[in-house]
Amino acid sequence: MKKLIITIDGHAATGKSTQAKRLAKKLGYVYVDTGAMYRAITLFAYQQEPIGEIDYNLLQQSLDQIQIHFEGKADAQQIFLNGTEVTTAIRKPEINNLVSQVAAKEPIRFFLKKLQRELGANKGIVMDGRDIGTVVFPEAACKFFLTANVSVRAQRRYEEQLAQGHEESLEAVLTNLKSRDALDETRSVAPLKKAADAIEIDVSDQTIEEVFERLYAQVLEKLAL
Ligand code: C5P
Repeated sequence: MKKLIITIDGHAATGKSTQAKRLAKKLGYVYVDTGAMYRAITLFAYQQEPIGEIDYNLLQQSLDQIQIHFEGKADAQQIFLNGTEVTTAIRKPEINNLVSQVAAKEPIRFFLKKLQRELGANKGIVMDGRDIGTVVFPEAACKFFLTANVSVRAQRRYEEQLAQGHEESLEAVLTNLKSRDALDETRSVAPLKKAADAIEIDVSDQTIEEVFERLYAQVLEKLAL
């Protein structure tokens, strides 16, 4: 049976990973959360320099000491940084506030792009992120771009973070989403943008179920081609 590369890019907190996990589970594909990989590198840098500014030269030189891997099925996936499980630690507000600066650096993107392409080689995969359809897998057959109103996204992320025990005000979450989107859209390397051949979906007024049906229908069409 044909195996697709499915890419889901878009703004922060649009439900990309929720949809990607469901699609991967339904299709029996591998799921790769590339945002978690940028977060893991940011956590590594934060652990070296918790108070001061990140030393990007040092971080670049340390890339060969960073090992990231995933374990578990799509809907219960864990991420490991140098052998330690960091699935929850990478969602801390401190990491939210630093990750887009780290992700703007070319050597870091280059390092992760290579790893991401290896993870997807010769497999059915669903990969979510910001530049997957444009840069990491421009050849992918099935591409989506999710967007939504920023207040809807902030409310959603606020509730998610509370459930994970990370207390932060709704206002702080909103500010973080806006600043991450702005940094992601304006960086010179691999900025967040819709691939010309991606299907754009505004999820502001749609349930998770409705969005999923739409994505899955499109995937079935591609599989039938
Ligand atoms: O997907 P998530 O919100 O966890 O991603 C965290 C951050 O990682 C994004 O705001 C963005 O700065 C960066 N990122 C990226 N390219 C990707 C995935 C994430 O630059 N493919």
